[in-house]
Amino acid sequence: MSHSPLRKETDCLNCGAIVLGRYCHVCGQENVEPKETFWHMFTHFLYDITHFDGSFFVTLKDLLFKPGFLSREYMLGRRKKYLHPVRMYVFTSAVFFLIFFSLFHVSEDDISIKNQATKVKDGFNTIKEEAYKNAKTKKDSIEIMNGLELLGYKDSTENFPDHDDEPGGLSFSLGRTTDYATVKEYDSVQNSLPKNKKDGGITRMMTRKSIALNEKYKGDQTRMATELINKFLHSFPYLLFVSLPLYALFLKLLYIRHRKQYYFADHGVFLIHLYVFSFLFMLCYIGLDKLAKKTDWGFIGIIEAILILTGLFYALKAMKNFYRQGWGKTILKFIIFNILCLVSLVFLFVVFFSFSIYQI
Ligand SMILES: [Zn+2]
Repeated sequence: MSHSPLRKETDCLNCGAIVLGRYCHVCGQENVEPKETFWHMFTHFLYDITHFDGSFFVTLKDLLFKPGFLSREYMLGRRKKYLHPVRMYVFTSAVFFLIFFSLFHVSEDDISIKNQATKVKDGFNTIKEEAYKNAKTKKDSIEIMNGLELLGYKDSTENFPDHDDEPGGLSFSLGRTTDYATVKEYDSVQNSLPKNKKDGGITRMMTRKSIALNEKYKGDQTRMATELINKFLHSFPYLLFVSLPLYALFLKLLYIRHRKQYYFADHGVFLIHLYVFSFLFMLCYIGLDKLAKKTDWGFIGIIEAILILTGLFYALKAMKNFYRQGWGKTILKFIIFNILCLVSLVFLFVVFFSFSIYQI
């Protein structure tokens, strides 16, 4: 319900029917003054996505404390007093990924090997200086040096190997990249070869891509890897979206004997609620993890472990409440379901990672 004033006229602005009361009985539009302030439009938008007028909190409470309950209510047709699952998914995943992407962004420094070697060297130099400060005699100094060498330190004259020419962690030399400077060159060489000497479809595709990448990034492997990882991270929302119908299919198969009661969409709604719970759950976990890194409080690790166990138990309990089978059958199906999900998740990761290579 909006808070705009009602119109004096009784003809519906949307469909022209005569309106009795606040809502049109033909099309459902609220018979209010069509002119609205910007502020009103903004609050309307907020109300619309969250239903802060009450159902938001009712839904959140039920979602957190009654595993599987909301999905069942939805399936049985009791829907008006709760937020719609899809709307809830869109809202929580937006919030989740907004926070996720602001926290997990890989920069070139993070993956540069050269950079890491420099950091280690700096570390050793600091230790050396500190140790020398405390050394009283020449013998002490020699012993400190011996100790450092045991740890892998080499004096600055020999130094760490220079990684300038080496690829940074990930290698994109998929094909015979180094032989060709440009894709054009590769193509013309390929075209001049007799048919049986030409590269096959996949080899050709991968070689062309790696030459193109080297061309684009001028051989800067670090920048390439950074782009790739970030692209991959940003494909996670799509990956989850694709996983939904796939996982619903697994549930459909696991509960195939109950197909008359549980339609494909019912499994989907069950999963959407589970995903929404997982988003909130992971936000808690990430928050705790950040706190642990900042404070060194050891007991946070224990809370995290409890949180993970609670999450697993929640999912199991949700499955039991929604599908109404005994513990034995539910636990068995839960295990099978998790294995199927993990295996297909690895597969999805590979597919999305390959897509990321083609997007950078
Ligand atoms: Zn109407």
